[in-house]
Order: sequence, then C-alpha cells, then structure tokens
Amino acid sequence: MTEEERLAKNNKIREKGKETRLRRQSQICRVFRVKIDFSHLNEIEKTQLKMIFVEAKWLYNDVLTFSNANEINKYDYKIATVHGLDKTKQPVIRELKNLSSQMKQSVIQGVKHNMKSLSAMKKHSRKIGSLKYKSNYESINLQQYGITYKFCDKKHMKIQGIKRPIKIDGAEQFFDIPGLEFANAKLLNLPDGYYVAVTTFQNKGGENKKYKPEIGIDMGIKTSITTSEGKKYKIFVGETKRLKKIQRRIMKRKKGSSNRYKLRKLLRREYQKLDNRKKDKANKIVHKLLEHKKIYMQNENIKAWHKGLFGKTVQHSILGIVKAKLMKNERVVVLPKKVATTKTCPNCGRINKEITLSDRIFECQCGYKEDRDIHAAKNMIMLSKNTCGTQGINAFGEDIRRKHKQKCCNADLDELGSRHFYK
Ligand SMILES: [Zn+2]
Repeated sequence: MTEEERLAKNNKIREKGKETRLRRQSQICRVFRVKIDFSHLNEIEKTQLKMIFVEAKWLYNDVLTFSNANEINKYDYKIATVHGLDKTKQPVIRELKNLSSQMKQSVIQGVKHNMKSLSAMKKHSRKIGSLKYKSNYESINLQQYGITYKFCDKKHMKIQGIKRPIKIDGAEQFFDIPGLEFANAKLLNLPDGYYVAVTTFQNKGGENKKYKPEIGIDMGIKTSITTSEGKKYKIFVGETKRLKKIQRRIMKRKKGSSNRYKLRKLLRREYQKLDNRKKDKANKIVHKLLEHKKIYMQNENIKAWHKGLFGKTVQHSILGIVKAKLMKNERVVVLPKKVATTKTCPNCGRINKEITLSDRIFECQCGYKEDRDIHAAKNMIMLSKNTCGTQGINAFGEDIRRKHKQKCCNADLDELGSRHFYK
C-alpha cells in the first residue's frame, strides 16, 4: 500500500466513524452475554480458545516492558513472537499462533489505554502505582462484527482464529429483535467458563407503552425495598454453604501449593455464581419497578451503611446495584438525602423528629398512622412534587441525575463488559 492509499483509507475510516457516532445518538445501547459451550469443542479448538488468552497475556506482559507510549506506538500489530521468562526465569521467545492481528491490536491498545488512565489519575494528584504484569488475561476485544466475530444462527457463532463455528447458549435473548446492530464484543475468560459480551444498538421508539401509575420506593437495610403500594422486595443474596466450605479448606492448605491454587479457582467460580445470582435478582426487581410510569426514590448513601453498623448485611444485599440501575433511567426522580421522608407527616406537614430507626410504625400527633417504610415511600411522591419542579432536579437546584450519569458515561465499557453506556 502506498502512502496515499493509506491516508485515503484512514480518511474513509474516520468518515465512517463520524457517521456511526451520529446514528448512535438516537439509539439505545445494550450488552448481551452468550456462553460458549466448551464441551462441544474438539481438542484443537479447546486449546485454541485457551491459548488465545495465554498469548494475549504474553503479549500484554511483553508490551509492558516498554515504559513509554512512543515505544509502544512502534509495535507492529502483525508481531509474531514475544519475549518472556520461563518457569526458571530464563528468557525465552514465544510464538503467537492463535492471536489474530485485530486481537493483538486490541491488547496493545489496552496497555496504552491503561497508561492513559493512569496518567490522567496522576494529573488529578491521585496516588498511582505502575502497571503490573498479568498472570491471567480476562477479556479480549473483538472489534468488528463480521470480521472478528459473527453470529451464524441462534446456536452458533464464529470467532476469528477458530475454524469451525462455535456452539453458544443465550443468543435467544436478542436474536429476534428487528433492526439490531452489533458493535464490538468482548471474549471473556471468566471463572465459570468462556463468554462473549456483545454490545448492540437499537433504535429508540415504542414510547407509547402503557405504564402503571407512579410509585415511590423506600430503601432500607432491614426491610429491603418497599413501594408506596405496600409491596416489599427482599434484597438479600447470601453466601452459599459451599462457599464457606471452600474458604475453610483453603485456610488449611499451604501457601503456594497446587491444591491451594485449585481451591482458589473453585472459590473464584463460587463468587462468580454468587455475582450472577445477585445481578439476576437485581434485574428482575428493576424490571418490575420500571413498569411504573414514574419512580420516586431518595439518594441514599449505601456506601456509608457498608462502613457503619450494617457492614455484612449490606455486603450481601443488592441494594447498590438496584439503585445504580434505577438512577440511569429517565423516568426515575431522585430526592436528595436531606429531605426528611420518614419524619414528615403527609397529613398535617409536621416534622416528627423523635422517630428512630427502631420505630416500625409512624405515628403523628394528628392521628395519622402508617407502616414506616410504606409511609416513607408514599412521602417520596408527595415531597418530590412539592420540592422538585423538573425531573431529576432536587429541592436545592442540583441536577443529581446528570451528575451520576456523567460518571457512568465517562467510564467506557469495562473489562467485563458490564457498563451499559456508550460515550
Ligand atoms: Zn400529622
């Protein structure tokens, strides 16, 4: 390719990118995960899949030996061998056989990206360390649909570097959605198997959906989530017996032994399962709540609960996940912490300061009586109508919702593909 051709090509890519970004503004971004059916792969494919991550790790660690970005820029995406150390710390040269050049590119860009975010943190005078060598590579970017990855049908997909189509589970969640666009995807190496997280875009629309009437919700550690309609959702996902058992067994093994390593792997898997269960429950609750036209809630500081009295209980609750998910939605109105939702009487407007955490029933001098949490949830609707003029703006004129949203948008899709926002 001559220099002119190269520049023309770059220009074309840039124009295409602009076009896409414009289109994305009117689209909703959603990430779906499909699981690779490992048992249906043959031996060659199994090793190929494993080696993709091992080679990515080798490459990542090799790139890391260069300290500045200029040297990394010189890296060729077609690089075929990397330097490394073997078990006895002797230098070896390793061949990259399974990694495609687009995957290599994404690994190298990953290092650059990490360096950039570190230096950005340094500029904000945060304490930073240097990037560390990886012992395990977890996620590889599959940049282009149709080239690095492709769906053949509901049950099969193709990944660059692996010859046959791979059997997958879970494509039903999005396969029949009309007009769905696939952007990049991530090949994930998680404790409980290999996954592909696909980022998709879909045109906005269907706004004339019928919603249920508006509700207020009260979040509490003791009684979970309570709605103004009197519904209570349990929010605890406890540790399993198996998890505790593995933890105990690990303590008995010698550090550095292979048995301990195996157990650690099992433990990671258990935690992954727990995480999945938490996410599933949170999704279900959020889905139920969003059936309502408008949702009023208070901006509670769940992190502070974590540190304080309720540490362990909060750790096993999914309140934080539910809150974060709700706050991203446009139909959710958030009241600031300072609004006295529990103490205000909706009947006479008096503020009853003497009510404490242990009082489960709210009683006012005027004779008004109600379950404490339902009362608080009902108050959310009333108080936000009195104090908030516009959606998401609190009584003090701050736009809470946007503040939170910005935080989410700045973070790109994270390593495990769990951010649902597009820049
Ligand atoms: Zn009263």
